[in-house]
Amino acid sequence: MSGGDMAKPLLGHRSTEADPSVVPAAGRTIGVLGSGDFARSLAIRLVCSGFKVVVGSRNPKRKACLFPSAAEVTFQAEAVKKTDVIFVAVFREHYSTLCDLADVLVGKILVDVSNNTEINHHRESNAEYLASLFPACTVVKGFNVVSAWTLQSGARDGNKQVLICSNSQEAKRTVAEIAQVMGFTPVDMGCMSSACEIENIPLRLLPAWKIPIFLALGLFLCFFTYNLVRQVIHPYIREQKNKFYKIPVEVVNTTLPCVAYVMLSLVYLPGVLAACLQLYYGTKYRRFPDWLDQWLQHRKQIGLLSFFCAALHAVYSLCLPMRRSHRYLLIETAVKQAMEKKMNIWVEEEVWRMEIYISVGIIALGLLSLLAITSLPSIANSLNWREFSFIQSTLGFIALVVSTLHTLTYGWSRAFDENQYKFYLPPTYTLTLLVPCTVILAKVAFSLPCIQHRLLRIRRGWEKGRYVKFVLPSATGEYSSGETSSNV
Ligand code: NAP
Repeated sequence: MSGGDMAKPLLGHRSTEADPSVVPAAGRTIGVLGSGDFARSLAIRLVCSGFKVVVGSRNPKRKACLFPSAAEVTFQAEAVKKTDVIFVAVFREHYSTLCDLADVLVGKILVDVSNNTEINHHRESNAEYLASLFPACTVVKGFNVVSAWTLQSGARDGNKQVLICSNSQEAKRTVAEIAQVMGFTPVDMGCMSSACEIENIPLRLLPAWKIPIFLALGLFLCFFTYNLVRQVIHPYIREQKNKFYKIPVEVVNTTLPCVAYVMLSLVYLPGVLAACLQLYYGTKYRRFPDWLDQWLQHRKQIGLLSFFCAALHAVYSLCLPMRRSHRYLLIETAVKQAMEKKMNIWVEEEVWRMEIYISVGIIALGLLSLLAITSLPSIANSLNWREFSFIQSTLGFIALVVSTLHTLTYGWSRAFDENQYKFYLPPTYTLTLLVPCTVILAKVAFSLPCIQHRLLRIRRGWEKGRYVKFVLPSATGEYSSGETSSNV
């Protein structure tokens, strides 16, 4: 099956009018082996979707009261006799106890819904193990990626995709139809060898987030240490002042915007590097290095983490005046000024600087919120490609520019004040400007007509030094071939 087909639902509803021998998906009898949490939720969902359900339990009398009255709960052997499709809602460890049913299971479809407790726990997947125990059955792996809770609440909440694989196309189609009637989206993952991969999916912990989270933590650690040295260690060593109280709020609050700002620029930097490579090689058909490919794929998560840090920075900043230390310092300054008989403490430039940088900061946060909201699949799906690219690319870049203005107005002229250089270390904001300004300058350069035109041509398929084969009729009427460079 082609890669493109993999993500597509297997089938729409199959028309049963043309072939009367085909049992419509809804209305057919489905068997469930086991009476645990998953079996119960599955039975409820199947009944609600219009299927007849027969549950096979080792102790049907005790378990019947746990199932909806529309479901029949009986002994395992009785249950499997009544249906051709049986969900095995039993742990792998107990598969061998089902071997007594081998005779009645001949020719039936077994749906393996099991998960493991560890990635690649066993040499073979659970579904392959089940198939080896019941060679006369057709095993389909599926439904393990949905939880009992999702089954009960219906496909409205939680993940709607059900990944399916099997060596039998027919069995896969049957299970896909059942999933569709239940409100799920079946995704064909190919043959049984994919079962291991499907079984590992529910065990993975945020795989797409690992690199962005480590990146954010790394940046946080670097900036935190830098700010700690400047704001706490320096006054302690040089002036014997105890400023350790600043660590939980002030140092964290000067670190968060640095992380948010640099992370935002890291969303746009790989695009700039990709464009540079395309310009350098004069083609879009050359693969990017793996690290750049990975980076490009993680832009959404990096952007969301940038928004998270920016939102935290906003909350921390709002809380700054609430602190007791802030109130003490305010009173202390007022007392000092009163003693020095200073009546007018208004500094026009400072007032304007603060008004502007707060306003610009709020706008930047608003734009980042918009980017974060539109990256949610449900919202992104409601946008067409142009809208999505306008928000993520154009508004995203504007957010970077506005954040740069926020940083610059925050810093103002302090970069030129030598008192700001603690242990010769420049103010943190000057360091954070490095990557974003590079990105902004590169983007400005790419918008110059000569570069923009070349980049556009490359992205439309033009290649530097490409030779195009052409065919000319000769004087004798025969055709002769030659080559020419397309960029001549
Ligand atoms: P559970 O609550 O412990 O139920 C397991 C059932 O297996 C028991 O109720 C029992 O029913 C039956 N069983 C058959 N032979 C058995 C034996 N020899 N020893 C013990 N029990 C035996 O587990 P579950 O949460 O429903 O999970 C069932 C399967 O679904 C597992 O493979 C799990 O990985 C998979 N799954 C579960 C979830 C979930 O959210 N719970 C999600 C995805 C996949 P009787 O006593 O009636 O025979």
